[in-house]
Amino acid sequence: MHRWFSALCCLLCLSFSAFAQVKSSNDSAQNAPAAANKKAGVAELPKLEKFDPSIVDKSKNACVDFYQYTCSNWIAAHPIAPDMPSTSTKRPLFLYNQTILRNALDAAAANKQATGSERQIGDYWQSCMDEATRNANGKAWLQSHLNTIASLKSSNDLPRVLAYLHQNFPAAWEMWNDDDNYTKAPMFGFGPAQDLANASKMVAGIDQGGMALPSLDYYLDSSERFKELRAKYVQHIQKIFELAGDSSPKAAAEAKTVMEIETALAKASMDNVTRRDPQKIYNKRTLQQLKAAVPDFVWDEYLQLMGALSVPFYIVSTPGFLDALEQQIKTRSAQDWQAYLRWWAIHRGASYMGSDFEREDFDFFGTALSGTPQMLPLWRRCVGSTDNYLGEALGQAYVNVAFPPESKQRANELVTQTRAALVEEIGQVDWMTEETKKQALVKQAATLQVIGYPNTWIDYSSAKIVPNNYLANMNAANAFEVRRQIDKIGKPVDRNEWTMTPPTINAYEDPQMNTINFPAGIMQLPMFGGNQDDASNFGAIGMVIGHETIHGFDDQGRKFDANGNLRDWWTPEDAKRYDEKDKCIVDQYSQEIPEYGVKQNGNLTAGEDTADNGGIHLATLALEKEYKSQGKSLDTPEADGLTARQRFFLAYAFSWCTEVRPEAARKQVLSNPHSLSHFRVNRPLSNMPEFQQAFGCKEGQPMVHNPQCRVW
Ligand SMILES: [Zn+2]
Repeated sequence: MHRWFSALCCLLCLSFSAFAQVKSSNDSAQNAPAAANKKAGVAELPKLEKFDPSIVDKSKNACVDFYQYTCSNWIAAHPIAPDMPSTSTKRPLFLYNQTILRNALDAAAANKQATGSERQIGDYWQSCMDEATRNANGKAWLQSHLNTIASLKSSNDLPRVLAYLHQNFPAAWEMWNDDDNYTKAPMFGFGPAQDLANASKMVAGIDQGGMALPSLDYYLDSSERFKELRAKYVQHIQKIFELAGDSSPKAAAEAKTVMEIETALAKASMDNVTRRDPQKIYNKRTLQQLKAAVPDFVWDEYLQLMGALSVPFYIVSTPGFLDALEQQIKTRSAQDWQAYLRWWAIHRGASYMGSDFEREDFDFFGTALSGTPQMLPLWRRCVGSTDNYLGEALGQAYVNVAFPPESKQRANELVTQTRAALVEEIGQVDWMTEETKKQALVKQAATLQVIGYPNTWIDYSSAKIVPNNYLANMNAANAFEVRRQIDKIGKPVDRNEWTMTPPTINAYEDPQMNTINFPAGIMQLPMFGGNQDDASNFGAIGMVIGHETIHGFDDQGRKFDANGNLRDWWTPEDAKRYDEKDKCIVDQYSQEIPEYGVKQNGNLTAGEDTADNGGIHLATLALEKEYKSQGKSLDTPEADGLTARQRFFLAYAFSWCTEVRPEAARKQVLSNPHSLSHFRVNRPLSNMPEFQQAFGCKEGQPMVHNPQCRVW
């Protein structure tokens, strides 16, 4: 679940973010799962890892490549599984969390007396796990959707059919999915948006969209690699049509049409760096203006069907995109639109029908785009799907097992301690005027910190879930979510609402809500353990907390005020100094990555990189304060031979150990605002005298960057 404005900054790129990982032998939450394991038919929970000094690769030099020094042994011992685009130290946690959810789902499905949300998650799970029924009936389930699309006889029918698809398939309202590029739904994105000028109000937003590939480069880059991928994409679309019953010549012609329409939309779309500037995507339009921009689309009918006709205005992310939309609507035949919309229905439904569709979808989106040879086992796909659609019903079961009140309390303390470090930092920095400092402190104090899970859970009871039709369940759950989202328009903002589910291994800062949220799923080992030593906790989860805290003050977050409004509260002098300091980081990260044949754009990743640099710094300050209060030194070797400061940096690096397939790495660099893990570790540390001192690094060595970049 994500919302309108991309600055909803999360910690991780999607490939690692689905769930979190938990507990070591000392962790207080462990008793519950251990007890559960004794029951028959319950899957055993995998063991969670945490940083252990023996993993360090002593043949490497910490001052040359600290990431390799910490991670190379672990990575060598944990090759990428054939069903994953990457491996990482968060992976055992991912499996751990999924296993907890699987046990909850099995129990719900087996409980014949189950009612309410337990019945819903049990039935949803069963409909996903029953592959025989899916294989036998998947195509028949799809047919009713294809019949609706076949009723499109001219562009006058587009609003009706498009609204139908936007309601039944993902995810027109999900305007920023796993990245900052565009909405991955047919034609355009439509959903609620917090008004950038008045954050207390929800308004309606229209986003560029209608493209299924990961980012604009995949449509527009003229290099051989992308040309090849585009050829494979068109073949994939053709195969999807053939699976749906079309003859090869017809399917080939349809695939060509789909690619033409998507490419035309890509050409008119805003690039992902420009899109990071909130002012650029804040274009208010009245209904009359929408009609003037796209006169061949009957907006009244579409908006009426979506339940958003009588709203005062719409925020359009990319006005130029509407021109391209009009051009396509005006010039394309009904047959072309049928092909395009059929593609989207089958594409978005492919994982919810028989295994032939699911396999073909994976071959392109999993293997060709991410390099992953094998699909995850069925049960893990079904856990992921239930988490995606009924996440707050399932999340309650997760919290009961994996996030006891003691964990929540300690996690809350860590967040408070890290935020206190930011208050000190703001007081001390020499580049900010008193006037701006005062405003920064007001904003900091107004930030709401939310730990673990929501106070009130979403009630899914109006979504009709059945045990034997997986596609219909996805349609029903999607329609439920669209209705819930659209209902927000015109209402006050609810700061207690979450955009991630409790088992998610991720965290986020929402600049418009002015909240920082840490799901229970990430408050686990190797990031956090109730009984893990302070240095390791601050190095791993402390950096995550610092990262989200800093987002409120990065190149995007700083443009929002304490109330979440897009308002410039910086003096021109401070803003200029900020930009100068940030440029150092942008330059440091704008580098060719020869092993993947791509170049990182430091302007795309500036916000995340600034948050990483500031985050590890805040965590350092918080740990120093904690040690001081206990009367201990960070620089005295402890029982394991390491100083607390060394263990802090090692635990940080260890929590990011990752190996990514080249295809997935390229996709991440081009479409995702997060740097690769290797850089997320080495670059911030190469800017830190505290790190260099802890490991005796000297000027001229790679882990001592010149200049030492620092914003926060
Ligand atoms: Zn972030």
